[in-house]
Amino acid sequence: MAKINNNYHKLQNNYLFREIAKRTKAFLETHPDVKIYKLGIGDTTEPLPKIVIDGLHRGVEKLAEDKTYTGYGDEQGNSSLREALAEWYKNQGISLSTQEIFISDGAKPDSANIQSIFSPDSAIAVQDPVYPVYVDTNVIAGRTGKFVNGRYRKLIYMSCTKENNFFPTLPEGNVDLIYICSPNNPTGTVATKRQLQTFVDYAREHKAIIIFDAAYSMFIEDKKLPRSIFEIEGAKECAIEISSFSKWAGFTGVRLGWSVIPMDLVAEDTRRGEINALWNRRQTTMFNGASNIAQEGGLAVLRTQGQKACQKIIDYYMKNAWIIRDGLERLGLEVFGGENAPYIWLKTPNGLTSWEFFDKLLAEAYVVGTPGSGFGPHGEGYFRLSAFGRREDITKAIKSIEKSLEL
Ligand code: PLP
Repeated sequence: MAKINNNYHKLQNNYLFREIAKRTKAFLETHPDVKIYKLGIGDTTEPLPKIVIDGLHRGVEKLAEDKTYTGYGDEQGNSSLREALAEWYKNQGISLSTQEIFISDGAKPDSANIQSIFSPDSAIAVQDPVYPVYVDTNVIAGRTGKFVNGRYRKLIYMSCTKENNFFPTLPEGNVDLIYICSPNNPTGTVATKRQLQTFVDYAREHKAIIIFDAAYSMFIEDKKLPRSIFEIEGAKECAIEISSFSKWAGFTGVRLGWSVIPMDLVAEDTRRGEINALWNRRQTTMFNGASNIAQEGGLAVLRTQGQKACQKIIDYYMKNAWIIRDGLERLGLEVFGGENAPYIWLKTPNGLTSWEFFDKLLAEAYVVGTPGSGFGPHGEGYFRLSAFGRREDITKAIKSIEKSLEL
């Protein structure tokens, strides 16, 4: 008799976006003439630059000719794109071989799948609050135990609050896999080199592995802040980097990302190169390569002119972030993030819970955001606003908050 994976029943997070949609719908039913401003979603809104569109067209046109048609590509990605990414890293002072770079269909699948090459009894540490995929995929894999009183029993929550500038102290006890997301979703804060160095030193000492999600790295404007974990000494021995064209180049719908699994990376029971080979085995078994059209688009992004064009769109979102921050600060709210990341993280006023503030913001200012508690227990009492959106909507949303939110 077939049985299902009962770990799925332990999942909690679906609740967040379902509940947001439910409350928004209920509000609209009683206020049908109201225009709602959605600042809750982490999806790109701006059209792609021409140079990138041309790259995607090239990918399509190649499919139309005998000479240039390609079917399945390498599961690891096209060598031209892996070389272009290695060159891109080299320009940032990071030396990687193409064999260490695996092209994928995005950072979400990679950050979800990476745990599968590690032991089922690995102890997992996550930043709290954080992008829920790291937690949920380990729930499904059976590593977290039951959900009791708002927490998974066996998961190590590394709290990130304003008291520690939203970067955790080192975990206590035995930890095998450590997920770090920087720039962070949802807090919008970026780990400094020194902060990352403490985790790299810890991981090397304890033979732990850091899974570093750099999906928002291109939003870092401050040159002193690291865009890659491999800017940190010793990181190649203990870290995997997962990244994406989604937020950098507006590829959320196109789908293209990559992961770096260094040859030097080792676990307690592996030799040099073995983890890289394991991921290669996983990908060749379960993935048939990213779309050849998307990969042509990725190549166009990596050209000098492509990078310049994408930077302009990032600047647009960062101006949105500034407008949100500035408006909220003028109201006297306590605001974090939004300077090197597209998310603004605010402390809910007057001790309101995240959901109480959600209801208030919706009812008074017609703005939908994301309750911080949906990203982990230490997100309670915080709230996330997203800088992805059309300028006119962002401006109107902030004006509406300034005019109508009662503080
Ligand atoms: N990683 C983080 C931290 C994210 O916030 C997101 C999307 O919101 C992703 C990864 C997903 O990236 P992709 O579109 O490349 O799958």
